[in-house]
Amino acid sequence: MNQAENKALMMGNEAIARGLVENGCSVATAYPGTPSSEILSSVAMYRRQLGIDMHTQWAVNEKIAFEIAYAGSQAGLRTAVSMKQVGLNVASDPLMSAAYMGCVGGFIIISADDPGPHSSQTEQDSRMLAVMAKIPVLDPDSPGQAKAMVGMAYDLSETFKTPVMLRPTTRVCHSRQDVQPGDIPVSTRQPDFKKDPLRWAATPKFRYQLHLELEAKLADIARQTATAPLLRNPQAGGRQAVVASGVAAAYTAEALNDLGLWERLPFYQVLQPFPLHTDFMKQLLANHDDVLILEESTGIIEMQLADHRRVKGKLNHVVPRVGELLPEKVERLLADFTGQAVTIPELPPAPGRRPTLCAGCPHRASFFAIKKAAPRGIYTSDIGCYTLGLNLEAVDTVLCMGAAISQAAGFYHAYRNAEKRPDVVATIGDSTFFHAGLPALIDAVNHNVRFVLVILDNRTTAMTGSQPTPATGTGVSGEALVKVDMETLIKGCGVEFLEVGDPYDLANFTAMVKKAVAFSRSHGPAVVIARHPCIIDLSRQGKGTDPVRVTVNDDCDGCGYCLQHFECPALVAVDDGARTAVDPLICTGCGVCLNVCPKGAIVADR
Ligand code: SF4
Ligand code: SF4
Repeated sequence: MNQAENKALMMGNEAIARGLVENGCSVATAYPGTPSSEILSSVAMYRRQLGIDMHTQWAVNEKIAFEIAYAGSQAGLRTAVSMKQVGLNVASDPLMSAAYMGCVGGFIIISADDPGPHSSQTEQDSRMLAVMAKIPVLDPDSPGQAKAMVGMAYDLSETFKTPVMLRPTTRVCHSRQDVQPGDIPVSTRQPDFKKDPLRWAATPKFRYQLHLELEAKLADIARQTATAPLLRNPQAGGRQAVVASGVAAAYTAEALNDLGLWERLPFYQVLQPFPLHTDFMKQLLANHDDVLILEESTGIIEMQLADHRRVKGKLNHVVPRVGELLPEKVERLLADFTGQAVTIPELPPAPGRRPTLCAGCPHRASFFAIKKAAPRGIYTSDIGCYTLGLNLEAVDTVLCMGAAISQAAGFYHAYRNAEKRPDVVATIGDSTFFHAGLPALIDAVNHNVRFVLVILDNRTTAMTGSQPTPATGTGVSGEALVKVDMETLIKGCGVEFLEVGDPYDLANFTAMVKKAVAFSRSHGPAVVIARHPCIIDLSRQGKGTDPVRVTVNDDCDGCGYCLQHFECPALVAVDDGARTAVDPLICTGCGVCLNVCPKGAIVADR
């Protein structure tokens, strides 16, 4: 099959996916997380369109996605797992062991970083975990290079029998570029797992041996030429030099041209930040005595260069340690480094708009009910679009996936001897519940934690682009899978109070949460499933309930209660705040706000 005739405009994640299928990946798994989510969906699209025989799946969390893909590699197939950088924390347990045991078929861990951060809890640099695990990491500067690096990663992985990390960042994942598609090979590999318990089930004594082997591998990888740094402008020379990796390298190339430095300032692009190539380290410091390092987010390259007096970067605070290295920052750093005038004006920050839940989002109603049911409660929450419940003062804590439940337990235990124990209400989305909430619920049942868990079940993983959950019963390509029944699961954990309600039915739903709060005070954990499909999904599918035409009548005195406590974007202050009105362009007609105004001023327009 020849696909190579025409270039195609590809998003970075599509380019990575294309690289996977062109390089014979047989198993691709993921848990969705921005900015990585489109990698797996694009692999699945190619699989469908091109009739490729491979396994693609959304796993229940990153650890499980990792372990499935890794086993494929143990059986000799080329495999890949993708996730966002905080997801790698979840998968860090198998990551560390897989690095020791190595792989057979090429195994790529794609961890998409989010410097900025645009949609993440932290700006963490996945390359740090590659350093900790002692596996090589490749750092692409563009969609095209990301695709090319998939092939490099498989070669590296199979040459050295080691997992390889590919670390794109948000700007690489989501930018678009003309990329040359290549041929799709017909994979002839057959799974062939060779039993070797000393390696695959190594006890601590043998793990020591595996660690020795891993160190030797790393030393070899640091000497191989395929991923050695590139001197991008060999005509330049002098005592100064700039070293960059990832998207900062793309910005550096542009800035050097803009500043007229391309002919003068040697520019090395590091493709493999870890392990940094041994010869490069020696030659860089032998040939230059003033070096600027530009990389996102941590100074990984910099840390490996021995002479920090001659290196400028994050460690000596020349380069900012926080946020993205945007083109204007890179140009300014290069200008300062070389004593040039900058050409890009510093732009004032764009005025921001507070993020809020969509008009008609069922979570808004759930939060409103929770506040009514437990007005002075402690509200623990989790990772998902419902984190925005903090605008409604219904979210007090957000730590990491699944922590809503374990933190609820923590607050319960912390207040166990207090004179007045607060109600504790945890909120978690359906996908997050399956991901990491379930073990925490088992623990809470086991210790009879008196709290209410509200599972915000909108039948999808909404925040990352509506991927299915185990309860949806569909796979990455929409194929039918076995549905996992949430209620059975919760009952199986030993939860005695379990009710399911529709938060759009606000009055009844509020009564249900009140009942759960009362139960939790005297008994133990109570679970309420707030079930209503995501409004975005419904509108995409052309489904939805009959819209209610809502209006605000003259009883409105502009008190602002609905704006502050319900915050539907379709409710707007008008007449200089003297009253509230409904914006018909935004209103979805969910009708939930009919229950919100204490004066009854929000009414159905019949
Ligand atoms: S609609 Fe009701 S709650 Fe909203 S501002 Fe008017 S009176 Fe206050
Ligand atoms: S009906 Fe009310 S709550 Fe629903 S979208 Fe319209 S204004 Fe918002």
